[in-house]
Amino acid sequence: MSNLLDFSYDELEELVLSLGEKKFRTSQLFSALYNYKSCDEITNLPKIFLEKLQTEYVFNPLQIYKKLEGKDGTKKYLYKLADGNLIEGVLMSYKYGNTLCVSTQVGCRMGCTFCASTLGGLIRNLTAGEILSQVLCVNRDIGGSYDKRKITNIVLMGSGEPLDNYDNVVKFLHLVSAQNGINISQRNISLSTCGLVDRIDKLADEDLQITLTISLHAPNDEIRKQTMPIANRYSIKELIAATKRYFEKIKRRIVFEYALISGVNDTFECADELSKLLKGMSCHVNLIPLNEVKERNLVGTTRKRAYAFMERLNKNGISATVRRTMGEDIDGACGQLRAKVLKEGK
Ligand code: SAH
Repeated sequence: MSNLLDFSYDELEELVLSLGEKKFRTSQLFSALYNYKSCDEITNLPKIFLEKLQTEYVFNPLQIYKKLEGKDGTKKYLYKLADGNLIEGVLMSYKYGNTLCVSTQVGCRMGCTFCASTLGGLIRNLTAGEILSQVLCVNRDIGGSYDKRKITNIVLMGSGEPLDNYDNVVKFLHLVSAQNGINISQRNISLSTCGLVDRIDKLADEDLQITLTISLHAPNDEIRKQTMPIANRYSIKELIAATKRYFEKIKRRIVFEYALISGVNDTFECADELSKLLKGMSCHVNLIPLNEVKERNLVGTTRKRAYAFMERLNKNGISATVRRTMGEDIDGACGQLRAKVLKEGK
């Protein structure tokens, strides 16, 4: 059964007309959906029409299954999809607004050894409407609405590889930034990828004004191959070349994620090699001590060492910061909460 949030406004209008309803019903239905109302909560549409819709379409493709709040105010959400699968999201509140981290797949098939999302492999892709629902559902949960948006920024950094679910993700990006929708500016959206080079080029052609974030995590192929299987498919050289092409087209600074893993990629030698690799690019490096995933036996670098690594990059002329770790006390990292709940069988 498909869900109504997969439809753009124009597609919804076609559906409304095809069901014999007047055109103006579209905006009523659209705002109810974007307020993340359940079918039962909608009072301004004819009952018969709603019943007809309900036999064929899902109104709310996911529900909050569990919610945890960290000491720093970070909220971790575990959602249940209509088919029973679980996905997760994180809401981080800053002075300037609220950033929601969304998932794009149930599980992931990229196989990065440090990432909990990949533990059970890929279960399935999320549809555009299921990704959008995470935004609408949390927006409602924190007191926002269709007219009064509370979520200001989105990062596609939850479980899944966004570019491995390309069409649905691109549709989601259009839906979530549509002016007659929840209207989140594309400039406030970051897409994070482990680096599917051909898809990065395709994305550049979409002409979306989003920030491209690359999970690099290593200064050379040899180290990258130790933790990221994608490094066997594309070399760092090819990856960097693709990010440069992206920058040429979109003109937005590239962000590189670099999780510091003790004894693997955190030496000054690595910092110098990384500096050489990125020299002259309009980019920023986000350093984060690896969030330990016990199953994988990989340990994060100390914060002190992370700052030393950062200073080394800065000295070499590379813009870099150590990311504040948020929500550590609530299994904030990718896929950790889902993995835990699945394991405990709750
Ligand atoms: N598949 C995409 C997006 C999801 S992961 C990607 O690879 O970018 C979001 C970010 O969290 C990525 O940079 C990923 O490498 C990082 N990450 C995953 N597990 C982590 C961990 N245990 N500690 C720190 N960062 C982690």
